[in-house]
Amino acid sequence: MRGKLVIGNWKMNGRWAANATLLGTLRAGWKPAPARKLAVCVPFPYIGQTRDLLAGSEIAWGGQDVSAHPSGAFTGEVAAGMLVDFGCRYVLVGHSERRQIHGETDSMVAAKAVAALQSGLTPVVCVGETLAERDAGQMETVVGRQFDVAAAALGVDLAKAVVAYEPVWAIGTGRTASPDQAQAMHAFIRRRLVADGAADVSVLYGGSVKGANASALFAMPDIDGGLVGGASLDANEFLAIAAA
Ligand code: PEP
Repeated sequence: MRGKLVIGNWKMNGRWAANATLLGTLRAGWKPAPARKLAVCVPFPYIGQTRDLLAGSEIAWGGQDVSAHPSGAFTGEVAAGMLVDFGCRYVLVGHSERRQIHGETDSMVAAKAVAALQSGLTPVVCVGETLAERDAGQMETVVGRQFDVAAAALGVDLAKAVVAYEPVWAIGTGRTASPDQAQAMHAFIRRRLVADGAADVSVLYGGSVKGANASALFAMPDIDGGLVGGASLDANEFLAIAAA
């Protein structure tokens, strides 16, 4: 269901003591409100710690990746059911770092999204173009293709997913898409969602979101919140983004 949602992506950051401080500050500082949700996607080893420190709060948690398979000989992989055992609500699939560094294809990402939903998790399907693709005017072609492969695999379950538009050139670079640039791509994704009967899916923006730029981005009509990397490691910055 469409609503405001901010998700922190810690990436491969965090250690036990620092996590406890960060999660404690988030828990103390988050003011829940109707149709406003907050979540953190943490490294696998810290999901249990996150559950212990956030249980009973209004902050959800999740993983940053998931296997397309339910169990078996897949060394190093983590199944969706395992994430559910640790109380996860969300899981990122197809983050650009997974696509670029780990060679994940559109169909692998789609299979992960399907596996997540089959276990009752909400997949956050990440899409976004590189700078070269944007410069070549191919952002709609690329994002449309990434979206369509996932949408086709999910079918009617697309309505239960979340989409994150993350232009690769804006991730971890300090270079944010302008609100108008982001809105144009979100409107493009929204048209696709409407055509697929999933108009109510939340579409998050990701790429160097900070307390200082979140309000302008989140005020755009088709931006339903953010997927936040670096700034989610600073509790006060993350809370400022969430408040926006
Ligand atoms: C991300 O990792 O999804 C992300 C958007 O990172 P950053 O906010 O650091 O650009």
